[in-house]
Amino acid sequence: MVYCHNCGEKLPENALFCTKCGNKVIQGVQGSAATPSDEVRDAFNRMSAEMEKAFNVAAKELQGAFQTARSNIQKTIYKEPIMCPNCGEKNLASATFCTKCGQSLAGVQASKPAEGT
Ligand SMILES: [Zn+2]
Ligand SMILES: [Zn+2]
Repeated sequence: MVYCHNCGEKLPENALFCTKCGNKVIQGVQGSAATPSDEVRDAFNRMSAEMEKAFNVAAKELQGAFQTARSNIQKTIYKEPIMCPNCGEKNLASATFCTKCGQSLAGVQASKPAEGT
């Protein structure tokens, strides 16, 4: 229902001027507000779903990569023993001196042969 904002007279929906005071009727303010059409909204929803899917896949791949990298690092840091150049004892990678003979292990790489050089 439309009311005259000047005198409050009740007016027909399609009235352009108040039938009582002649004031111009302001109407349809809300009707013209920009709302996304269903089409646009659907497209947006589809896009978000696709993106969410892509993100999930990426997250899983990333997680897998991280786990692989982490286990590699753990293998390198914690699992590769340092062989004592003096007695052949396998020491923890974190060892600085041989646990068996006390030989300094500084500069001694983990059992893998050094690459390059
Ligand atoms: Zn009026
Ligand atoms: Zn040793």
